[in-house]
Amino acid sequence: MAAVVVLVVLIETTIVWHFSSQRTTVIVQFLPIFGTWVALTGSLTAYLLWTEYKVTGRLMFASLSGAYAFASLTAVLQLASFPGVFAPNGLLGAGSQSSLWIWVFWHCGFPALVTTALAFRMRRVSESQVGVGRYSVVGALALAAGFGVVAIAGKTHLPEIVSATGSYARLQMSPASVLVLSISLVALWAQIMVTRLRSMLDLWLAVVLFADLGDVILTLIGGARFSVGWYAAKAASMVSSSVVLGMLMHETNRLYRALNESHQELMASSQRDGLTGVFNRSYLDAELDKLIAIADGRRRPFSVLLIDVDHFKSYNDTCGHLAGDEALKQVAHTLSIATNKYGGFAARFGGEEFVVVLPGHSSKAAMSVAEDIRERVASLPSTSQCSAPITVSIGHAAWTSIFDKSPKGILGAADAGLYRAKASGRNRVIDIEADMSGISEKYMPPAQTH
Ligand code: GH3
Ligand code: MG
Ligand code: MG
Repeated sequence: MAAVVVLVVLIETTIVWHFSSQRTTVIVQFLPIFGTWVALTGSLTAYLLWTEYKVTGRLMFASLSGAYAFASLTAVLQLASFPGVFAPNGLLGAGSQSSLWIWVFWHCGFPALVTTALAFRMRRVSESQVGVGRYSVVGALALAAGFGVVAIAGKTHLPEIVSATGSYARLQMSPASVLVLSISLVALWAQIMVTRLRSMLDLWLAVVLFADLGDVILTLIGGARFSVGWYAAKAASMVSSSVVLGMLMHETNRLYRALNESHQELMASSQRDGLTGVFNRSYLDAELDKLIAIADGRRRPFSVLLIDVDHFKSYNDTCGHLAGDEALKQVAHTLSIATNKYGGFAARFGGEEFVVVLPGHSSKAAMSVAEDIRERVASLPSTSQCSAPITVSIGHAAWTSIFDKSPKGILGAADAGLYRAKASGRNRVIDIEADMSGISEKYMPPAQTH
């Protein structure tokens, strides 16, 4: 993109070169458009650079922000003082020379300020000292205002560089043009040599200085207001004032996308259990709350399975905890396969216990899912680390059959089913409603078995 912009400015300068001094239609409205464009893009760029400074503490951004604030205010002053835009002789008591002198100061000041920022490339301030950066912005604005005062109040003392007909012939001959051209060239050279165009901003600032140089050359060869060169110079100036803004907006957009992606990743990983990869306890709690709200509102059924690995302590004792971890992963994987097949989700409740939540499942449907899970786990092949078999006991509870309509209520009911499964010999599924007849008994686990 940078190469394209440079090429456009080069082609523009080459095409315009031969007939740049040709006078053409006076479009007075062009100036307010130009001035507003430069002032607005300049101040937005200054603002974005300032926020970058506040975040990074890099003084370079504060000084660049100052450079853009300078360009922005200068553009406003030039527009106000330009003869025939707001008043025949310009506003603020300007003379016929004022706006061109402001242009000279602008094209000396801006590249000089960008070069000054190079000196602060490596300087950083701490968060508590970040206020010092405002001096560069205030200083740059004061410089722009000072130049404005010199150009307007000193109108009788400054040498004449523009004739009554709008010709810049005297400017072409004056040391001011040499100064503007030299500063623009040196600034571009310094930008390239010092930064080696390493970062995006380094590169685009070089493009800005290149377009600025194009502006200076076209203005000088145009040699008059409203000449072809003059219009082309203004176009180059508009490019120069907006490319860094474009780059910063593009960067902001990219950062937003990256931030969103990492936020999504963080959210996803914060919902997962580190060892087994199934959802974790906090996800389970939040989802149960949501499901209950839906079940209450729309009367939709859901079922919960509480699953506990049988004799897992002795599995660990026999094969070691690392083999135990592998076995837990295998069980979790089996649960994921089942929930992928039947819907719902699996979560690690804690230790060697898991929960499977099955929204929209009746008791019967959920029980057959539970039986499928039990069988799948029981037929898992033994791992290379351990030949002991793995089985699970499962308690089931359905939302419609419990009395305490809360997460605690449904998990407690499934837990009661699990205790029953353990007590009846393990490696089995118990539906708490079918197993228990009396409500008072329903949620009372037989403590001695678990
Ligand atoms: P029961 O059939 O009655 O459930 O017997 P159990 O041995 O499975 O139950 P107990 O509560 O006595 O033991 C659970 C074991 O699970 C003890 C603990 O070391 C093991 N465990 C819990 N979390 C992990 C884990 O993340 N990795 C491994 N390897 N073991 C775990
Ligand atoms: Mg347990
Ligand atoms: Mg167990």
